Amino acid sequence: MTVAHRLADVRERIDRACQRAGRDPTSVTLVAVSKTHPAELVREAWAAGQRVFGENYVQELTAKAAALGDLDGLSWHFIGHLQRNKVKEVLGAASTIETIDSTRLAAEVAKRAEQLGKRVAVLIEVSVAGEKQKSGVAPADVPDLVESVRAFPALDLRGLMTVPPLSDDAEATRPHFRTLRTLARSLGLDDLSMGMTADYEIAIEEGATLVRIGTALFGAR
Ligand SMILES: *Cc1c(COP(=O)(O)O)cnc(C)c1O
Repeated sequence: MTVAHRLADVRERIDRACQRAGRDPTSVTLVAVSKTHPAELVREAWAAGQRVFGENYVQELTAKAAALGDLDGLSWHFIGHLQRNKVKEVLGAASTIETIDSTRLAAEVAKRAEQLGKRVAVLIEVSVAGEKQKSGVAPADVPDLVESVRAFPALDLRGLMTVPPLSDDAEATRPHFRTLRTLARSLGLDDLSMGMTADYEIAIEEGATLVRIGTALFGAR
């Protein structure tokens, strides 16, 4: 199957999940996660109408952004763990950083954004199940981080992002998606970045506004 076919299939599933949930399909943005796949596949997806892409690694992001600089309307979300010494590089390529997980990181992003004279869209990464080894902040610590991030004029805080614990049963992730939604609503945040290949339809039923999908679009890594 070509990327264009896979994209059409995923879009149809997104539309159907929206119908089931009584949601407008335009309220869900598909972030095509291209990590480990060549820039040429991103180009194919772009030719099929896809515009928003996600990358986890700084070097890969900057290399692909440079190779694809000729494509109109292409935008990148950074969705990997971000070290402060890589922020400047990421801001040269990405429009949105989905993985803010500390005030120190937020401060660095704000500083670099100001230097570039721009405002950057950000999301806070939440470890919904509070697993210690995972990146993201525990739900109990989210309100304080939201307050810190909102204090930086160069940061446009859009919402919360999560990668729930791995499970063989997609339904088992539903309560985690609900946790993220409840938390976001309580803090007046609109965007919910949740749902990957295995569980994006459930995430949409639970309110996802950004779904990050790699395997279903580009194949196995
Ligand atoms: C790799 C990755 C994805 C995409 O996962 P698939 O299961 O391939 O759809 C989404 N979000 C994050 C944070 C990732 O690292």
